[in-house]
Amino acid sequence: MVNINYETEDQSTKVELPENLIFGRMMTNHIFVMDYDEALGWHNPTIKKLSKLELSPAAMVLHYGQTIFEGLKAYKQVDGRIAMFRPERNFERMNNSARRLVMPEVDNELVLNGLKELVKIEKDWIPTKPGHALYIRPLMFATDPFLGVRPSDSYKFIIMLSPVGPYYPEGFKPVPILATDKYVRAVRKGIGDCKTAGNYAASLLAQREAKREGFSQVLWLDAIEQKYIEEVGTMNIFVQFKDEVTTPMLTGSILPGITRMSVLQILKDWNYNVTERMISIDEVVDGYENGNLIEIFGTGTAAVISSVGKLKYKDKLFTFGDEEAGELGTKLYKEITGIQYGRIEDRYGWMTYLN
Ligand SMILES: *Cc1c(COP(=O)(O)O)cnc(C)c1O
Repeated sequence: MVNINYETEDQSTKVELPENLIFGRMMTNHIFVMDYDEALGWHNPTIKKLSKLELSPAAMVLHYGQTIFEGLKAYKQVDGRIAMFRPERNFERMNNSARRLVMPEVDNELVLNGLKELVKIEKDWIPTKPGHALYIRPLMFATDPFLGVRPSDSYKFIIMLSPVGPYYPEGFKPVPILATDKYVRAVRKGIGDCKTAGNYAASLLAQREAKREGFSQVLWLDAIEQKYIEEVGTMNIFVQFKDEVTTPMLTGSILPGITRMSVLQILKDWNYNVTERMISIDEVVDGYENGNLIEIFGTGTAAVISSVGKLKYKDKLFTFGDEEAGELGTKLYKEITGIQYGRIEDRYGWMTYLN
């Protein structure tokens, strides 16, 4: 076991959380940080006060985008225990992203241990109100000051924490989405299955145009034919037909969500006919028109489940369920958040407890 350095005397910082927590705005006082270079590998894992970074303007991350991240949450459960949802999966996925971007892998045990220690120090930052949590953001980026294009030789790894409110402050409401064939997010054999900055930069313009048209998310179609549905915003997508619940198979351009994986498991245990396959947008349209399509929802850490209330594709607008969230999405939302907040028994062993 590698020792973690602590550059912090006051392990109980005074915490004043605002009434309305805006997602991602507020950071806690401490971070976990370590450095990588060719000679030492990952070294000097430290928990210290959050402060500004010193970075060369030539740092490779700023020019060529060699950077990856993760997102997960810690919860204050109903019995006072602190628990994280499947954190080992996030570090596995981060290492997959690292390999694709020619970045060094991290030791899962070391970073999980660092994360646990950090959350313990910052435990008073975990909001206790319903639907609130501590969002966890691991991050790795290239630091070589060098203007040529090649993999960096040095990197920084950071975990920061941010207290967050519920994704839907007014309750679990369905959202309107816009299927776009004007832009694509990611192409197969590219980096769409990695949580890396470029994918999000590529999505911003489509997202802005959808917002201006009154839609809250973009439904991405495959990059080659714009025929198959892939993801919705930064969530995976599920479609319920009368005799099947299905989600796009992981072809390489889709981010393999941990919520997606968990939803697949729960649906199988609930005896739904669950599939992972290619789903064309025409099949969705036909299903809507012939009454075979029941509901559509997105899955991801931030919202857990996001019910789709409206879908626009070309010049057609499809509406679902009179402003009410879909039945299956609602049931899954209650099940997963129930496990996360300890209202429902953790029968899969998904939670990592800190106390
Ligand atoms: C993070 C992310 C998801 C959801 O993954 P979870 O592990 O469920 O949070 C889906 N799509 C994209 C593009 C993402 O970045």
